[in-house]
Formats: sequence, structure tokens, C-alpha cells
Amino acid sequence: MPARKHKSTRRWSMYPFLHSEVAALLEDSDLYFRFHSKDDDFALHAYDTNVMGRFSCPNDECGSTGWSSKKIAITIRMYSGDRYNARVYHQRCQECNRLSQPILDDSYAERVAYRLKKWSGIKMEVPVYGGESNGPHIRSLCEGCKAGHCSEGRWY
Ligand SMILES: [Zn+2]
Ligand SMILES: [Zn+2]
Repeated sequence: MPARKHKSTRRWSMYPFLHSEVAALLEDSDLYFRFHSKDDDFALHAYDTNVMGRFSCPNDECGSTGWSSKKIAITIRMYSGDRYNARVYHQRCQECNRLSQPILDDSYAERVAYRLKKWSGIKMEVPVYGGESNGPHIRSLCEGCKAGHCSEGRWY
């Protein structure tokens, strides 16, 4: 099976390369976590939230110019031994229904670090997540909704 085809059917990804950004935010609170690269469900804590980012359609024949989303579903998980990871759910192109993996902005590191600090017992102000909604959340295009891990999808 061609690698490209396999990739396009993935419903979520992890972003270990963003660990350095998360680690920098955690360091402010003297916390040191390692990224747990194994995608397993046996976590001490798990929390569904959302981050912001941009998608482009992987289908060359599709006319879509891509889309941005302020409601990309993610599940943050903390494991024993100061380890963590986060699953970021893909979305489908509204034009052709192909799965796309997002490019995330700074909200990923901010929200992951916030949650790990909270689980570590650090007192913080509740953040005000900015950003007006960009249209209704389309559940049929959100893999987080389908997996039952989308905090936005629960409102509908
Ligand atoms: Zn498309
Ligand atoms: Zn959703």
C-alpha cells in the first residue's frame, strides 16, 4: 500500500516536535515532563479540549484552499513518571471529505502546559480563550466528534 494513501486515512496525530514549546512553558513553574510517544489509553489523567490551527486539503484534485479552525479537538493525557502526550484529531475537507492533519498555532503548547500545571497542583487563573467562533462546528467533518473526544461537539 502506498505510504501516502495510508497517511490520509489517519484520524489523529501526535505532535512530539512541539514538545520544546510545551517544555519552555512548564519550566516557568519548575515542571519537567517528557513526551510519551506511545499512544496508549492508560493515563493517570485525560482531558478533552481544543486548539487552533490550519488545514490544507491533501487531495490535489480538490479545489479547496484549506481552512482554519479554532476548534480542533485534542485529548491531553498525563502518565506516571512525569510523562504526557496529546492526540490531535484531524478534520475532513468540506469539499471532498478527505482527512487532513492540521498545522497548529501557539494555542497547542499553551493549553497542554496549562493542563499539566493544573494536574500538578499549580494554582493559576482560568485563561480566557480568545477567538470568536468561525461558524458552526460541523460534527461530520470532525474526527474528535466521531471518537467522542471533542469538547466543542458536546454543545450540539
Ligand atoms: Zn478537499
Ligand atoms: Zn468536533
